Amino acid sequence: MAKRRPGSKVEPARGLELGGRTIEPGTAERLEIPVARLPTGTWLSLPVAAFCGASPGPVIWLSAAVHGDELVGVAVIRSLMKRLNPATLSGTVLLVPVVNVFGLINESRYLPDGRDLNRSFPGSKRGSLASQLASLFLDEIVKKCTFGIDFHTGSGGRTNLPQIRANLDDPETKRLAEQFGAPVTLHSVARDGSLRAAANANEIHCLVYEAGEAGRIEREQIRIGVEGSLRVLEALHMMKNDGLSGPKPSVIARDSTWVRARRSGFCQLRVGLGDLVKEGQAIATLSDLLGEGEAVLKAPEDGVVIGLSTKPLVNRGDAIVHLGEPEHG
Ligand SMILES: [Zn+2]
Repeated sequence: MAKRRPGSKVEPARGLELGGRTIEPGTAERLEIPVARLPTGTWLSLPVAAFCGASPGPVIWLSAAVHGDELVGVAVIRSLMKRLNPATLSGTVLLVPVVNVFGLINESRYLPDGRDLNRSFPGSKRGSLASQLASLFLDEIVKKCTFGIDFHTGSGGRTNLPQIRANLDDPETKRLAEQFGAPVTLHSVARDGSLRAAANANEIHCLVYEAGEAGRIEREQIRIGVEGSLRVLEALHMMKNDGLSGPKPSVIARDSTWVRARRSGFCQLRVGLGDLVKEGQAIATLSDLLGEGEAVLKAPEDGVVIGLSTKPLVNRGDAIVHLGEPEHG
């Protein structure tokens, strides 16, 4: 059987079945797919904006807040909602601004029982709440698509340079990652239990956009996410973007490494996101609370700073600086 490629499964311009309804060609609908009740009895639902184009084309999804406190992607998707027009769209775009609705209302990365949704895929209908939510999202959204973009930020106490993470060994995924045009594109294989791994297991390819930190949003992170997504839609021949420039060249990194604290204490960073550093360069200073016993943390190799700890107080072994290794560095 021929391997399916992103965007290669061209759907006729017919309605899409979703949440027990049919979204007709040339229309956009907002719907709520019920997940479970809170202990109070209130239903929590997956919010979905479905844009079903008047012309045939691929079906793709964009999702955010799989980790409930990661809000940059929520802002990206809210902005994209205003840019999509079903009358001129070819194919279907499913926007899911919040997947982990339980985490979002608790301002938490996790489900109420502490499980990580992005380690719970593919999930099951009889598993934990995380497992059931993973299964529902996979069946209702991902499996209807040929391609997707999942939006994340650094986890608690870490911030990320806007970057795409994807399997760059797949030529079509690499092409779409380049069209997204984030400052850095990092090759990575999907982690077990993640949404990306579950999509890949169904031969559905996926980009992960990482930018910023949990609980915060910045305009530049949103701009890069919105413009990148629009360029990907154009690269899939789903729409045209008048007035949007082409992608800037991205630093391609085939690998990355976290540089860890060699002592506990107070940490002062000497680099910022996006900085290019040389092997042996001082990237942080660690000392005790009175400023004594200073230890300089050095870059183990040349690289680009793609992530940072935002915590001034660190324990020995804490990850401090995430370095991407440029392909032609
Ligand atoms: Zn995340």
